[in-house]
Amino acid sequence: MQSLLQSHPHWPAVESIYHRLQAHGYMAFLAGGCVRDALLGVQAHDLDLATNATPEKVESLFSKTVNVGKSFGVMRVLVEGADIEVATFRNDGTYSDGRRPENVVFSSPQEDAQRRDFTVNALFYDLATAQVLDYVEGQKDLKARVLRTVGDAERRFEEDHLRLLRAARFSAQLNFELEPVSFAAVKKMAEKVKSVSGERIREEMTKLLKTEHADHGLQVMKDSGLMKVLFPFRLRKNDWVKNSLATEAWQRLAMFVRSAQGTELVVVLDMLKLSTRDRRAIEDAWKVWQDPQTVLKNSLGKQLQMLAKEGVVFALRILLSEAVEKTAIEFLLAEWKSWQEVLPRPFLNGEDVKGRLTGPAIGVCLDKAFEQQLERQLQSRDEALLWLKKYLERESS
Ligand code: ATP
Ligand code: MG
Repeated sequence: MQSLLQSHPHWPAVESIYHRLQAHGYMAFLAGGCVRDALLGVQAHDLDLATNATPEKVESLFSKTVNVGKSFGVMRVLVEGADIEVATFRNDGTYSDGRRPENVVFSSPQEDAQRRDFTVNALFYDLATAQVLDYVEGQKDLKARVLRTVGDAERRFEEDHLRLLRAARFSAQLNFELEPVSFAAVKKMAEKVKSVSGERIREEMTKLLKTEHADHGLQVMKDSGLMKVLFPFRLRKNDWVKNSLATEAWQRLAMFVRSAQGTELVVVLDMLKLSTRDRRAIEDAWKVWQDPQTVLKNSLGKQLQMLAKEGVVFALRILLSEAVEKTAIEFLLAEWKSWQEVLPRPFLNGEDVKGRLTGPAIGVCLDKAFEQQLERQLQSRDEALLWLKKYLERESS
């Protein structure tokens, strides 16, 4: 375990913070996910520290710090080219909105373990003694590969509804079984997941879908009722085929919403609060999957033009990997590749219509301009700008 931690690129930074805190009489423990992962024999992404030094103290001891949430006791310390979270041991006070505690009280490691979501996430590693500190029998659950809430499951989910989704996400990430009492609590409270913000839902789903055992997490969501509340269309079909072509978050989300119907898609994309770019890419991919002919029935020129949309390219690649329309898509992608090398850059871009067009109208206008350019109706940027002026006049009248 020690050697795994030491091989982490942030280890030198952690050691340096630890030495400084210790020299001033404070404790420094690795905490949460990194301890869990090290015990499982996998490399953690982040090494997070917990200490009894207050955020003010942390700020004064290190020359470069970032205040992430001083009132919650969370600082980041920049040393040795790394950016390390240093959180003060705390009790989360009462929760009234199912989202965040009203007040926190700085406390001891024992109490800090109690505020954490799952036992396997509540372990510490004392850098002074190289010992794991376990106040919640987390190591036992880790061995049994069980995800169990710290303390009373219903109360913990009631406090923070995001934990409902985290239960599914960690089930997938760790490939652990959700312990029956915790599972029953998720099932009972599933409806409350509605209060979680779209951004957080998207974040958790993105993480879940990225894992090796995403299908397990999705099954937990289905069995517990979370799926019915958030993604009811998945009840018709909840299979998840991992596709190595889906490397970006939006691509995995696109695969996830593939089986949604038109109105369901709008609802889910609205909920997830995606960026305009990601949303458009997902919608474009979805349309291709609904009917590949929307692309393939067109003339080659038009097809090539449609490939300017990243969602369309992605959707076709996925279809190809599934051996759907193999000949047509292989041909098209090969044509596209050779065209890409000679295809001109569009004269107009989003900046040119900023503030004058919104939403889907932007794409419609820029597509039209590019089509004219490819057909050589427009020969320069100046001509394109003139065309745009007339186009906007026509649109507004
Ligand atoms: P990952 O490998 O995905 O980063 P992690 O365990 O580090 O997993 P984070 O979301 O980074 O998870 O949170 C760090 C730690 O903070 C968790 O291990 C857990 O102890 C605690 N924690 C985070 N979010 C919550 C929450 N909503 N409720 C209770 N404890 C939480
Ligand atoms: Mg983490």
